[in-house]
Amino acid sequence: MFRLSLILVLLSFCTLNKAQKIRIGLYNSQKISNVKFTPKNGNYFVFSDTNLIYNASTKDIIEMKINNNLIDVILNGNFLNRYSEINFVAEKNENFLETKPIRPNLKSRLYESDFTVQSKNGYLEIVNEIDLENYLEGVVESEAGPGQKTEYYKVQAIISRTYAVKYWNKHQSSGFNLCDGTHCQAYLHKRNQSSLIDTAVKYTRQIILFDSINQLASTFFHANCGGQTCEPDLVWNQKMEGFSSFKDTFCVHTFQAMWTKKIPLKDWFSFIESKYNFPSWDSLSYSLAVNFEQKERKAFYIDPVYGIPLRDLRDAFKLKSTFFNCKKEGEFLVITGRGFGHGVGLCQEGAMEMAKYGYNFEQILLFYYPNRNIGKIPISPSFPRK
Ligand SMILES: [Zn+2]
Ligand SMILES: [Zn+2]
Repeated sequence: MFRLSLILVLLSFCTLNKAQKIRIGLYNSQKISNVKFTPKNGNYFVFSDTNLIYNASTKDIIEMKINNNLIDVILNGNFLNRYSEINFVAEKNENFLETKPIRPNLKSRLYESDFTVQSKNGYLEIVNEIDLENYLEGVVESEAGPGQKTEYYKVQAIISRTYAVKYWNKHQSSGFNLCDGTHCQAYLHKRNQSSLIDTAVKYTRQIILFDSINQLASTFFHANCGGQTCEPDLVWNQKMEGFSSFKDTFCVHTFQAMWTKKIPLKDWFSFIESKYNFPSWDSLSYSLAVNFEQKERKAFYIDPVYGIPLRDLRDAFKLKSTFFNCKKEGEFLVITGRGFGHGVGLCQEGAMEMAKYGYNFEQILLFYYPNRNIGKIPISPSFPRK
């Protein structure tokens, strides 16, 4: 049964993906009603349905505005026409353009290959259609940032590729595969072909991670575990096969290993009193609350008997992690924490350190995802390859 479902996922992936193109919904969490496109490298054929309406070059600015569920197209400042859908087809695969949302006013970004713009629920839906591997280069840079070792970028490429294949149909109802935000994977710009990331993604082409029963693995990751990874149960209230808590000494001296935050005592206690009936009037309970310590990761604040999950405190007070201690200082509770993020799976800063120490991508992946198998996306020989 498991094997059959894996085969179905991979078959649908291959069938959908003859030349391994992926469709990404851009600015998915923003409600875009006005945007400008400017080709920055090479020409773009602009189509409405199947009609060629313009051949755009780097001198052109094509603006689109929502107008009663249709799209007004304004070419170099002059109204061109009103359409329901616009397609940008790159003359060459590596051509790219700049997207600049005007309403809301957001930073411009560069993206490569083809685009579709449609009117959806009163807003513009912008979809970038691009080769999977080229998309992954943009993701790896967005998720890992610059300045890392190639072995780390290989790790991030395999995690991101596995995620893309596993969640291929996540946004199927919207007509694209994945979105560009943290809901799926950050994809904030196109690839940089002269970078180490380019080398890492090409080196790991088609490589993905399978779990111990040969399903596509879940590749959770976070910025820094603070020295101990976290069980999924503590974060999402759900047990997950293959994830347990373990010590990670690689990340403990890195950038986001420690943090502090001061919170007014009255805010802290009013939250736990109103939500969990915390007995602040009881001097012992109060003292335990202001002297809370975690030598190892716990699930609950103070003691399970009070019923206050640490994840609730993290959400309510926007704490970097649930791995923290408390101390009273005047009118404030000083929270000293370790790590950044949910703590499940791979610790990015620990993995970056491992790469600096000379571990290769396989060793790093298997340290954070033990008992997994590193394999390849099966490719049907009938699919044309670019
Ligand atoms: Zn998404
Ligand atoms: Zn760590």
